[in-house]
Amino acid sequence: MMRDFDAAQLALPGIRGLQPYQAGKPIEELERELGVTDIVKLASNENPLGVSPKVAQALQEKIAGLARYPDANGFYLKSALAEKYGVQPEQITLGNGSNDVLELLARTYVSAENEVIFAQHAFVVYPLVTKAIGATPIAVPAKDYGHDLDAMLAAVTERTRMIFIANPNNPTGTFLTADALYGFLQQVPSHVLVVLDEAYYEYVEAAERAPSIEWIAEFPNLVVSRTFSKAYGLAGLRAGYAITHPAVADLMNRIRQPFNMNELALTAAMAALADEDFLQRSVQVNCEGMAQLVAFCEQQGLNYIPSHGNFLTIEVGDDAEGLYQKLLHKGVIVRPVTGYELPRHLRVSIGLRSENQAFIDAMVAIANEA
Ligand SMILES: *Cc1c(COP(=O)(O)O)cnc(C)c1O
Repeated sequence: MMRDFDAAQLALPGIRGLQPYQAGKPIEELERELGVTDIVKLASNENPLGVSPKVAQALQEKIAGLARYPDANGFYLKSALAEKYGVQPEQITLGNGSNDVLELLARTYVSAENEVIFAQHAFVVYPLVTKAIGATPIAVPAKDYGHDLDAMLAAVTERTRMIFIANPNNPTGTFLTADALYGFLQQVPSHVLVVLDEAYYEYVEAAERAPSIEWIAEFPNLVVSRTFSKAYGLAGLRAGYAITHPAVADLMNRIRQPFNMNELALTAAMAALADEDFLQRSVQVNCEGMAQLVAFCEQQGLNYIPSHGNFLTIEVGDDAEGLYQKLLHKGVIVRPVTGYELPRHLRVSIGLRSENQAFIDAMVAIANEA
């Protein structure tokens, strides 16, 4: 006889109410489920160029040393990042993906009594980490699918401890200018941490980028997070980081798992950072692919949300879920965004020219079947 045991009843209330993170469907899973081959995955904003050859080489050379623990302080990677961004290594916290640092930040600063503000249609990890702590999530209605900074400011109370802003935002691709962000930071009270999630920073045109890291000197309550998962092509390894005031990093470091960034991720991130050429090609391929998908939407009369990221969120009509399924049957994986309160849209990651074309061909074929 199994004993009485109520797993849910014993769990923290904040966790009982959570829905697990819904990842893009893996290629192998679609193969298993539908027996489809030649699958194109445009569902997780991954880099279609794959891994830089220099990263692959560096990883090969590390394999023999994997019996050893990694450097718990990530000395070399922090030094390289510090030099690149003109900050002190003491300002950097490395993470097992930037999701890890987002969670570390929430666990360092947010308690069950606090409120955490983010925008409607913002990255789902923000409500997840907030609710897990038992804190109160405040989702501020979007403006033109993006952040309404005035409304977010108006939502700040004495209980607010953190505001998450993704710029560009996922899954909408919307973008806030440097002026808008700077004006916002000037008005946020200093008992509130502003977490600026710049996962897609490298795709933003240089002239449009906010000097966010420089702002930390003026706004010590500002945190900037970045990742190696997107333009650097290392999503599978999990490597991200936060740049903060050194006192914030010191506190995060106290709860960080000592080896949260593994040896291969440290190695690959170092090599990726040094491969400017690969980064430039990645951005170029994205630019061309974006133009290709936008042209398709224009030609078909499909609305889309103008995007500054490596994906395009397209309004496909009342039956987005049905279209998603039909695309799966044609071997094209995109991302439904109903969970983001966008039930009429699908998010399509920018792939190689041939992959984007496979999506376009499948869309045309499905339209012709109807
Ligand atoms: C993809 C993404 C990240 C990056 O997550 P990792 O854990 O670094 O892979 C962070 N924020 C947003 C908004 C994203 O879309």
